[in-house]
Amino acid sequence: MRKKELEIPLRIRKLEALLKRLLETQPKYQQIRDEYGRRMSGYRGEQSLQYYLTFLKEKNYLIFHNLRLPDTSGEHFFEIDLLLVSPTFLLIIDAKNYRGELYFDGKFDQLIQTYQDKRKSYHCPVAQINRHQLQLKKLLETFKIPPIPIETLVIFTNPNAIIDASTDFKHAHKVIKSPSFLTKMELFEKRNRDKVLDRKQMLKLSKILLKQHTPNDHDIIAQFNIKADELIYGVSCPNCDKIPMVRTERSWTCTNCNHVSKAAYLNSLVDYSLLFGNTITNQQLRHFLKLPSRTAAKTIFNTLNLEHKGDLKSRIYILPEDIERILIKYE
Ligand SMILES: [Zn+2]
Repeated sequence: MRKKELEIPLRIRKLEALLKRLLETQPKYQQIRDEYGRRMSGYRGEQSLQYYLTFLKEKNYLIFHNLRLPDTSGEHFFEIDLLLVSPTFLLIIDAKNYRGELYFDGKFDQLIQTYQDKRKSYHCPVAQINRHQLQLKKLLETFKIPPIPIETLVIFTNPNAIIDASTDFKHAHKVIKSPSFLTKMELFEKRNRDKVLDRKQMLKLSKILLKQHTPNDHDIIAQFNIKADELIYGVSCPNCDKIPMVRTERSWTCTNCNHVSKAAYLNSLVDYSLLFGNTITNQQLRHFLKLPSRTAAKTIFNTLNLEHKGDLKSRIYILPEDIERILIKYE
């Protein structure tokens, strides 16, 4: 049973909104791009695992995608791509969609990727998932969930990836490619036969996990120390992402792909809320979308019929959480 569905994590959406509005020459661009690539790889990996999950006996498993849980120190969070909860064991899955040749170096606990003649080193995902196993165990203890075996698995989802490991890499049994998933599940089921959680305890655990889940809602501009004048302002094209679109009578036109849209600015409002939060003033809207006048901004606010507070001059408008719903309505 799905308890937490797979959707694009907030962090990825924030990174995407930021990348769209930075020049590639901005000093932090590559760092942001790398994090985006890494997280997207996990997300795509998870997407491709959906197929295999459909073969599981639905009623035996509770399925949680993308949990971000506090560890017991209270200072850090740990992120689990996919968690399966059954009455006899839990399984933490880390999905990776990496391409090319992937080599586990046991000596230095690193994963080396060779792709298109470039070599890149990552932290060993098995070391990371083992840490998550410990953090989850402690969290469950805190909430008095009976001690239950926690299995871990790193799944490489890209069918073309080639995986290899040094002889001193001790965790090869925790690494698979997607098609081996169901065989591995049989093994986990076989070696964890004792029922630890009854129905009630499973529901309790489910509630705890959903309640403890904390989306990564960092102020991304502050975190990467981006200065206001480093951002690219204007309406972005919903078709090709080019900024800015040109305002023509009653609509917006893209100078790159000629796309014309009346409500093109809605995408940019989503960007705004991801980058700066859900409140916006007339002046902020004018600045962000590069609108020519106070009246132009006012027209947009009126069209969207946004909730607001404060008097006319210093009015603050609230961008709704489901701002994308407005977007769909206009398309
Ligand atoms: Zn365009």
